Amino acid sequence: MTRISRTVVVTGASSGIGEATALRLAADGHRVFLGARRTDCLRRLAARITREGGVAAFHALDVTDASGTQTFMDAALHEYGRIDVVVNNAGVMPLSPLAALRTDEWDRMIDVNVRGVLHGIAAALPAMRAQGAGHFVNIASVGAYEVSPTAAVYCATKFAVRALSEGLRQESDGSIRVTLVSPGVTESELADNLSDPEARSAMQTYRAVALPASAIADAIAYAVGQPPGTDVNEIVVRPAGGAQ
Ligand code: NDP
Repeated sequence: MTRISRTVVVTGASSGIGEATALRLAADGHRVFLGARRTDCLRRLAARITREGGVAAFHALDVTDASGTQTFMDAALHEYGRIDVVVNNAGVMPLSPLAALRTDEWDRMIDVNVRGVLHGIAAALPAMRAQGAGHFVNIASVGAYEVSPTAAVYCATKFAVRALSEGLRQESDGSIRVTLVSPGVTESELADNLSDPEARSAMQTYRAVALPASAIADAIAYAVGQPPGTDVNEIVVRPAGGAQ
């Protein structure tokens, strides 16, 4: 089988699923362009990929900033000449019950998880349409399908990512492919710094059984590796036997 090599932009590549995805896609022969706020982590990751024979570059990215996201995508275009795939992966999950009224954290989740994905689409879609081909891989969650206590706002943002992905797919003439990848509990930094004590304690049981981040990277690699006529639309991956 001829291996397809694509130019893949990964947001939130400094840790967890984004980092594992960059490593896996680079190992598959794709050229990766990495974004996040912690550029020291991106620098180390790009150096590792290059050392291991892959092709990687990086640029600082805050997905809440629309014009900064455009600058980031322009840098990817400048580096590689095209953008075949955008993995909209950057996300935050400061869980809490609604009654705790942590409105700053609600806003942060909406800004990163929803606006961030929209900014990624807006910044790359024109280039993909001009090329006549492109692929968005949007990272949602099992929380895009069901809601649990302390996760109302987080789940709302992930329901939104699912709705946006489905809308983008329906509006596509076939040249733009859209994949929604929804992980269950996965090892990463996502739940490391919850400020709400109730959510922190709930997470100890909820997150007891977790997938390695490489399992989600494998799912993303499957969708990215398909030939142009095949659009993998939704993948849900849970740890066997886990709570989620
Ligand atoms: P991590 O916390 O390990 O990674 C989150 C990534 O998002 C980091 O690279 C972080 O980089 C980046 N990020 C956060 N805010 C911004 C921002 N404003 N601009 C750019 N990048 C940002 O968690 P995961 O790897 O688990 O999370 C990846 C995705 O997977 C998220 O969308 C999450 O919701 C989803 N997910 C994760 C699950 C899990 O159990 N781990 C389950 C279901 C879904 P930096 O801080 O350097 O900017």
